[in-house]
Amino acid sequence: MSASPCIFCRIAAGELGTRFVYEDAEVVAFEDLHPQAPTHVLVIPRRHIVALASSTPGDDAVLGRLLAAVRQVAADRGVAETGYRTVINTGSDGGQSVLHLHAHLLAGRPLGWPPG
Ligand code: AMP
Repeated sequence: MSASPCIFCRIAAGELGTRFVYEDAEVVAFEDLHPQAPTHVLVIPRRHIVALASSTPGDDAVLGRLLAAVRQVAADRGVAETGYRTVINTGSDGGQSVLHLHAHLLAGRPLGWPPG
């Protein structure tokens, strides 16, 4: 049984049997449970970082890996040409509901702006 109460830590550790659409030593990516677009993938660091706001300069390499993984998944999905949106909700006004840093990759339909 996991000692971690964090659902994304448990996913990253493979405890929930989640299928990864991308993984490397630093990050994993998987389908969002409630997709908001034809492609809706979450990319997370394996290591628990609560939010972008509480990350530190020591996390900068993994932040870079996070964006590189978004780029890779977008290319794999064939949406790099049509375009996509990368969202990192941060804190309560930012709409962050899971307190483990994650980037949303949304694609496959025109996305409105500004966001709600
Ligand atoms: P945010 O509101 O930015 O914190 O986004 C959290 C996202 O995590 C939402 O889009 C949820 O649908 C998604 N989510 C929550 N739990 C899971 C899960 N177990 N597997 C996949 N996605 C999840």
